[in-house]
Amino acid sequence: MCGVFGAVLPEDFDAGGAQAAAVAALGLFALQHRGQESAGLAVSDGEQLMLYKDLGLISSVLDERRLPSLRGRLAIAHCRYSTTGSTVWENAQPTFRLGPRRAIAVGHNGNLVNTRELLGRLRGGRARLPASTDTELMTALLADEPAADTVDALVRVLPTLRGAYSLVILDERRVIGVRDPYGFRPLVLGRLSAGAGMDAPDLWSGERPTAHGWCLSSETAGLDIVGAEYVRDVEPGEMVVLEEGREPRSIRFAEATPALCVFELIYFARPDSYMEGRNLYEARRRMGMELAREHPAEGDLVMPVPDTGAPAAAGYAEASGLPYREGLVRNRYTGRTFIQPSQTMRQRGVTIKLNPLREVVRGRRLVVVDDSIVRGTTTKQIVALLRRAGAESVHVRVTAPPIYHPCFYGIDTQIETELIAATKTTEEIRAFIGADSLGYLSIQGVLAALDLPYERFCFACFDGRYPEPVPYDVGRRKFILEEVAGVHG
Ligand code: SF4
Repeated sequence: MCGVFGAVLPEDFDAGGAQAAAVAALGLFALQHRGQESAGLAVSDGEQLMLYKDLGLISSVLDERRLPSLRGRLAIAHCRYSTTGSTVWENAQPTFRLGPRRAIAVGHNGNLVNTRELLGRLRGGRARLPASTDTELMTALLADEPAADTVDALVRVLPTLRGAYSLVILDERRVIGVRDPYGFRPLVLGRLSAGAGMDAPDLWSGERPTAHGWCLSSETAGLDIVGAEYVRDVEPGEMVVLEEGREPRSIRFAEATPALCVFELIYFARPDSYMEGRNLYEARRRMGMELAREHPAEGDLVMPVPDTGAPAAAGYAEASGLPYREGLVRNRYTGRTFIQPSQTMRQRGVTIKLNPLREVVRGRRLVVVDDSIVRGTTTKQIVALLRRAGAESVHVRVTAPPIYHPCFYGIDTQIETELIAATKTTEEIRAFIGADSLGYLSIQGVLAALDLPYERFCFACFDGRYPEPVPYDVGRRKFILEEVAGVHG
């Protein structure tokens, strides 16, 4: 996961001098669901970079006291969900490094799988790292690359990276968007046009800005919030260079072999975002309809596990003819349980975050629709919660197929034994979670709902077909850079 956002504003757009930071922070707000451990923002005024980052939610890190001091027309922003390295200040992003040729800041969504190899390369140059993330490693490689121009440095360094990376990169004069050759994680390009949102006529002069601003965002919802219009996806294997007063430049650094993470469409991304030309609310509603066809249930009503199960539950209700009701109320201010890093925190999380509506639940046969079962602990607690509230029976239906394999491309489920489907049959999982019945949507069902071919996506955590080979020793690689002595500078 992680959310990234970038903004380049034209001169007459920016009377206050700090608007790129404001646009980037606002865009990042729409991506808060992608990572809640830390947030940060880097700006350039054309000559030097400034950066602010901290642990915590975007609203507490990038508040109105910080933003005015981050002046410049170029900005990148990042919110973090950790897949390599602990949740400590040093590992917050954007990363920053001053090399012999350039100052550079990087925001990264994804996870590299050849971290050890890259570290060896860097140590050959006797470099030291201040943090323990793959992003820090990548930043050091880019800053230390002898090529005079950042774009040339990227053309040399990017082909040496393996794994998932959607990047926003800032140097003194440019914001650059990059997507790995598989395009595991999304990244879109948007244009801030005259009359749209942020670049409406100047309040004092009434004049409209003459040039376009440009944005990069993990999801289209980030463009919507700043009033930017969607232009296109950054293509897998492509770099898009954004500079003041110029049209975006596209540079292809690798052949594209698209494999977008299908989980983005099933669960991670916002329902109001678009991916592969599909609105995700609609895609999930259709997944719910497929689920009803594949796994009908004897129930009185269909209810979602809020909030992410709601579109699929609506689809299930529509296809099954059962009424749709909300039977659980979610506290919106606790974050996603899946995202919190430790098992103890996850276990505490569910009771803090969900409360049953007893009037809806009592005496009813419930069809409960959720988007995924990863470890099974959350689902088990939800079923128990509903039974305590008087449910007659609980039939669990899930829009993600069973997760048998770990993800190495940016989702923190790397240990196989953490995945309940890797160690238990569907019947054993049903017994473990305490449900009356359990049904998962099939891979074919997901594809039918999306009306797109298998070849466009990564389904590796469901079928083990990893698009990018994963080194055999990758194992517990989240703390790989902390385990190798001497990494911290
Ligand atoms: S392994 Fe699963 S979670 Fe990871 S990128 Fe592929 S589909 Fe997404």
